Amino acid sequence: MFRFVAALCVGLIGAPLAQAEKVDLLITNATLVTMDGSRQVIDQGVVAIRDRLIVKVGGPALAADYEPERLIDAGGDIVMPGMINLHNHISMVAFRGLGEYEVENLLFDVMFPLEKELLNRQLIRVSARQSAIELAMGGVTSFADMYYHEDEVAIAVKDVGLRGVLGQTVIGFPVVDSPKPYGGLAYAEDFIRKYQGDELITPAIAPHAPYTVDKEQLLAAKAISDQYDVPMLMHLVEFPNEYEMVLERHPDMANYRSEISYLDQIGFLGPKLLAAHVLYLDDADMDLLKARGVGVSHNPKANSKGASGISPAWEMMKKGLDIGLGTDGPMSSNQMDILTVMHYVASVARLRLMDATPYTPLELVEMATIGGAQALDRGDDLGSLEAGKLADLIIIDRDAPNMQPGYDVYAAIAFGAYPGNVETTIVNGQVVMHDRMIETVDLAAHEAEWTEVKSRVEAFAKTLEGGIR
Ligand SMILES: [Zn+2]
Repeated sequence: MFRFVAALCVGLIGAPLAQAEKVDLLITNATLVTMDGSRQVIDQGVVAIRDRLIVKVGGPALAADYEPERLIDAGGDIVMPGMINLHNHISMVAFRGLGEYEVENLLFDVMFPLEKELLNRQLIRVSARQSAIELAMGGVTSFADMYYHEDEVAIAVKDVGLRGVLGQTVIGFPVVDSPKPYGGLAYAEDFIRKYQGDELITPAIAPHAPYTVDKEQLLAAKAISDQYDVPMLMHLVEFPNEYEMVLERHPDMANYRSEISYLDQIGFLGPKLLAAHVLYLDDADMDLLKARGVGVSHNPKANSKGASGISPAWEMMKKGLDIGLGTDGPMSSNQMDILTVMHYVASVARLRLMDATPYTPLELVEMATIGGAQALDRGDDLGSLEAGKLADLIIIDRDAPNMQPGYDVYAAIAFGAYPGNVETTIVNGQVVMHDRMIETVDLAAHEAEWTEVKSRVEAFAKTLEGGIR
């Protein structure tokens, strides 16, 4: 009643109800795919953004409440949460396209020799910048990475303005950032201390895999993750012969029914763990991962290209595990966008089950956005467009021929969209790309550094059997 009277009085003297509120960015006229709790889609929707946050989301009437620094009229295009890529090694883009011709073991025959010869801080930083630009242009706003010298990756990712969960690798042999095995443990601790609390970078620790890391060091990595409350990233049950590979380093595992039950028994599994691939597991293993709150990155494109197998991701999703999507590094699945991964998720599962019903388009878009956020334990601040959440969002061209007629917006996104249809990418309230133009990076300066990296890699690859055809 009070409200009514007050409004009436103001109405009588003809003054506006309230002064327009200042915001940094206002997006209007959007087909707003919110991915909120009720999966609301709003026609002619409006999003108001101030500082790093979404201030409000609503219908067309909302626009009059705000006075924006910058206005983007979406012209009816799709505005949705930025996509989350849960598994990558972005600096490996310098090696993309090498070892594509009948190489039996890509990891050991091509990747490791390339890394041994060529990796240094500069290659890692410049390549990470190249990939971060590509990720932004394909609609990925957050990604998880596992590599070496993650402090260099962090610099590049902040240059471009993406959100990165960056896992410093721990591995049981000498590598570029550590002359001794397991130097990654100390490196990770320094990196975590340096970047804890950063707006864009979530530092993390990444024991490479149980077949390259001993029990003691797996548990040391877990202790660091617990102590600093940071994510732990790892490859898990990725290969058909992985059990035998792991057994060589972990003879104790013979006493347990599976790799996952062994890792649980030694106290390694927990909610901070984000496991990548996750192909070879049974029902009881899935229950264990769920009970321990382990997040899963499903990477069907890399798994099929590398012939490593087919994940029972559909069963994991139906059991309620926290599962999202990843690509793996650019040597494994080449492209780094999540739009094309959604298509694989459904196609691979349907072929495996010979059943065309698994995965609705909505479920696929969930895995690409809010599912990824939950797998990272970031469901509270990422993955949907809601007031109070971080302003990470993208605009997809709804008029592109391949997006037509677009009766169902989720089907158009999951099965129709190409990464090139992403017009605008906004991360942490900052416009990273608009109208397909990157706004954050000096592209000419970057291009000069990238050209130098490429020529160094090409010269060495020519000397490597199976490097370039
Ligand atoms: Zn990987």
